Amino acid sequence: MAKVAMIRYRKRIALIAHDNKKPDILEWAKYNIGTLKQHELYATGTTGTLLEKELGLEINVFESGPLGGDQQIGARIAEGKIDFLIFFWDPLAQLSHDPDVKALLRMAVVWNIPVACNRASADFLISSPLMCQDYPRILPDYHSYRHRFTDK
Ligand code: PGA
Repeated sequence: MAKVAMIRYRKRIALIAHDNKKPDILEWAKYNIGTLKQHELYATGTTGTLLEKELGLEINVFESGPLGGDQQIGARIAEGKIDFLIFFWDPLAQLSHDPDVKALLRMAVVWNIPVACNRASADFLISSPLMCQDYPRILPDYHSYRHRFTDK
């Protein structure tokens, strides 16, 4: 039987937007503020500070993305401490921290957490009936990967 980790009703949501996408996340968060307030929010430095200042949201703010914030969020996903990612990354910009962006998106897939990379996906995710209930997230089974040299 597959192992699961419960995504609780009150979700731990990470919000990140690259600079050209900050107006987008601001507008999206403003529209969805009622829903967002019901959850525990996290964000990279500049995105978080902007959302706090403009919308008065309470947010756990990490370091700015290019200074390690993406990696902090990725690490928390691996630890099971963040269960939902809204990440408006910029497909037209060359970014100094491109490897971090890739690593973060990879962690979301490795750990099977919901992730939205544009507004349409974010709209679908946040309006899902699963937003207001517990959800048993399937935990991928990495046992054989972890023990590939030790299990005989
Ligand atoms: P920022 O980081 O919110 O500090 O701008 C976002 C990012 O580029 O990852």
